[in-house]
Amino acid sequence: MSGEAFSFNLAETIVKWLDVGIFVLDKNFEVQLWNNFMAHHSCRKSEEIVGKNLFEAFPELPKPWFTKKVNTVFLLNNFSFISWENRPYLFRFAHNRPITGGAEHMYQNCMLLPLKAEHGKPEAVCVMVFDATDTAIAQSLLQEALEAISEISNRDGLTEIYNRRYLENRLSSEFDRTRRYGGTFSMILFDLDFFKKVNDTYGHLAGDQVLIEVAARVKEKLRTSDVLGRYGGEEFILILPETNQEGARVFAERVREAIALEPVIYENITIPVTVSMGVAEYQAGMASYSSMTHQSDLALYASKAAGRNHVTCYEPALEKLAD
Ligand code: GH3
Ligand code: MG
Ligand code: MG
Repeated sequence: MSGEAFSFNLAETIVKWLDVGIFVLDKNFEVQLWNNFMAHHSCRKSEEIVGKNLFEAFPELPKPWFTKKVNTVFLLNNFSFISWENRPYLFRFAHNRPITGGAEHMYQNCMLLPLKAEHGKPEAVCVMVFDATDTAIAQSLLQEALEAISEISNRDGLTEIYNRRYLENRLSSEFDRTRRYGGTFSMILFDLDFFKKVNDTYGHLAGDQVLIEVAARVKEKLRTSDVLGRYGGEEFILILPETNQEGARVFAERVREAIALEPVIYENITIPVTVSMGVAEYQAGMASYSSMTHQSDLALYASKAAGRNHVTCYEPALEKLAD
């Protein structure tokens, strides 16, 4: 077997049959070569395309952008790369993956190579089109999975509202944001009254149902910017951005009433439920958001002391209660 003859045919055969799109353009964007991959996916045979201007054959191509890209390769005499992450595709080809994959078209990476005689300026540019659909699908599935995991890790399993981890993060970021840009925000800490008795009288499952129902009722009352989470066993926190203490108090009263007004029904058992609430507002000079949780806790404690089913706003005099 003669090496020279073999390698010549081999190169041509590979270009023709490789499972990668290969086409060559001259300076006028006239197509010089169009391999089987390109023919198959564009449904346009080599005989139809070779000798034609690329943009006349494919008017849907992004002409100004691609012209610039190819001209840069001619000018700089250097290869160039186009990633599917920046531009999903050059040619809108169908892909052969199952519809369930989520991709509507073939994602493509493209490589542009200057073609030249031994020395001198490029005479043509070879464009290679790689099918990156599998990578794109895998990446989007991974992204969805990561988002789902992040969402789950922020949620309370029982009530599906936010959990303590998320509340702490939000309080911290709301605190930093307010300190930096001004404005205000408030938080409400609330706790179910005599909840131990609910469990003791009706059982733990009934208690769980009460927690679910309370979370659902409060959720109904929220604005989109408000955040509701379960801070601990039967303790909840509401974060109210752009809300001062008086606004938070009015809102807390509305929530308190909505819970007290209608008992929770669990397997035909009527369970009266009330909550006690403590309100605290951001104050300039606070060291951290834990000053707010401390203050709302004192106010909550005062609501319990006042007979429960009550809303109290923090005031400095409450510090004495803690002693
Ligand atoms: P107070 O009015 O002073 O708040 O009285 P309380 O009985 O609500 O307070 P206490 O702290 O004594 O009881 C809280 C109870 O909440 C005890 C615990 O069994 C119950 N609890 C905490 N987490 C859960 C939960 O996830 N499900 C159920 N069913 N009960 C829970
Ligand atoms: Mg309680
Ligand atoms: Mg408690």
